[in-house]
Amino acid sequence: MNDHRDVPVGDEAGEVRRFWGRLGLPGLVDVHTHFMPERVLRKVWDYFDSLGPLTGGLEWPITYRKEEAERTALLREFGVRAFTSLLYPHKPAMARWLNDWAADFARRTPDCLHTATLYPEPGVEAYVEEAVEAGARVFKAHVQVGAYDPADELLQSAWGLPAEARIPVVIHCGSGPAPGKHTGPEPIARVLARHPRLPLIVAHMGMPEYEEFLGLAERYGEVRLDTTAAFTDFAEGFMPFPRRALPRLAGLGDRILLGSDFPNIPYPYIHQLHALERLDLGEDWLRAVCHDNAAGLFGV
Ligand SMILES: [Zn+2]
Repeated sequence: MNDHRDVPVGDEAGEVRRFWGRLGLPGLVDVHTHFMPERVLRKVWDYFDSLGPLTGGLEWPITYRKEEAERTALLREFGVRAFTSLLYPHKPAMARWLNDWAADFARRTPDCLHTATLYPEPGVEAYVEEAVEAGARVFKAHVQVGAYDPADELLQSAWGLPAEARIPVVIHCGSGPAPGKHTGPEPIARVLARHPRLPLIVAHMGMPEYEEFLGLAERYGEVRLDTTAAFTDFAEGFMPFPRRALPRLAGLGDRILLGSDFPNIPYPYIHQLHALERLDLGEDWLRAVCHDNAAGLFGV
C-alpha cells in the first residue's frame, strides 16, 4: 500500500499536511507564532513552567521546546507558508533591541514576516517609523505583559504610523488567560475611536471577551481576530467560546486569521486546526481562515 495511510502514527506533519491538502490549499499561513532571542524565549518558557500570572495558574507544558532551527524546520514540514516572530517588551528600552533582532531573523528566515513591536515610552514614534521604513510587515503589542494602557498618550502618534502604512498589529488585549490592568475591550475601543483605520488583529479571538471583540470587528472594517488557542480543548476548559456567537464568527469569515502560539502551546499544533474544523462553519470558512485571509492581507 502506498497511499496516505502509510504515514506512521505520530507523524504530526503528515496530519497537518493532509488537513490543508483536503481543503485544496497550498499550505497554511499562521499569523501568531513566536521566535525570540534565545535567552528571552528561555525566560518565557521558565515563566510557563513556573505557572506565572499570565498562565492563570494553569499547567502549561510547552510542546515544542526545541532549538530554533528545529522549530522553523517543523513549521516548514507542517506546510506553513508564512509565519511571524511575535516579540513584545515588558519594560521600557527593550523594543528597539527586539526590533533589531526580529529584522535580522526575518532576513535569515524568508518565510517569516518581518515583525516589530512597541512600548509607551519617549522615542517610540521614531523607532516605529524606523521599523516601518525597514520593511516591517506586522507589529505585535502585548497589553497584558506590558501592563500599559494601549490608549496611552505616548502611543497616539505611534499608532498613526501602522494605520497609515496599513501594517497589521497583532495585539494581545483580551483578559485571557489572566486579566491585566488594561486588558479588555474598553481601552482598545478608545484607541479605535482615534484611529478607526488601524489594522488590529486581536489575538486569541479576544478571549474571554469574545463577543465584545467580535463587536469591534463588526464596527471597524480593519479589525481582525486571530484564532490562537481559541476553541481548543485547553481554552474551552476555562474560557469557552459562547455557542450563541457562532453565527457572528461565520459572518466575519473574511477577518478571522489562523494563529497558533507555536511553539509555546500545551498541545500539538494539529489540535488548533481540528478545533477550527469542529466549529462546523464549512470548508469555505476554513480555507479563508487557515490560509486565504492572511495570504491576501500580507500578499504571500
Ligand atoms: Zn502568543
